[in-house]
Amino acid sequence: MRQVVRLGYSPQDVRHIVLTHMHFDHCGGLPDFPHATVHVHAREFSAFKGLPRRWTDLAYVRRHIAHKPRVVLYDDRGERWFDFNAIRLPLEPEMWLIPLFGHTRGQCGVAINTNSGWLFHVADAAAMGLDESLPQWLVSPVLGPHTSRLRRFKDAHPEMRMTTGHMWLDTFQATLPRDGRDA
Ligand SMILES: [Zn+2]
Repeated sequence: MRQVVRLGYSPQDVRHIVLTHMHFDHCGGLPDFPHATVHVHAREFSAFKGLPRRWTDLAYVRRHIAHKPRVVLYDDRGERWFDFNAIRLPLEPEMWLIPLFGHTRGQCGVAINTNSGWLFHVADAAAMGLDESLPQWLVSPVLGPHTSRLRRFKDAHPEMRMTTGHMWLDTFQATLPRDGRDA
């Protein structure tokens, strides 16, 4: 919330929040924006609400929606963004939810058509710049099965800004558009 204020907005200006997944470190700030509509994949919301089935489910904290936000759920409907299954969100600028299940049962990436081109935030489906040296058997149980595909996609689309949920700051800064424009 303090970062939003630092950017010159008030917390009430935040009307929509698109979640990649509902682990505590990705949605713990929801109560700071009680009037915002929350957009999330239906599978992720039911994993969050259901009984824990695997150890990563222990990172769901129910009280993060104790304020009962308005939640809009999405399910696959056969749309595509590049070669990914995707769901077009009813928001501007053009925005897509990209199912990348694995890290959690409903984790998604979010692609946004910004003033400076596509921003593709893959959250915890990859640790771009971090996991290249780690073996797949170690990466898959935590990040899911998409890391190599996302790395290939990144190599094929150098014009695209791709970010992850836990990038090193210098890796993140290297993705910033050079002319300083952004949505
Ligand atoms: Zn996570």
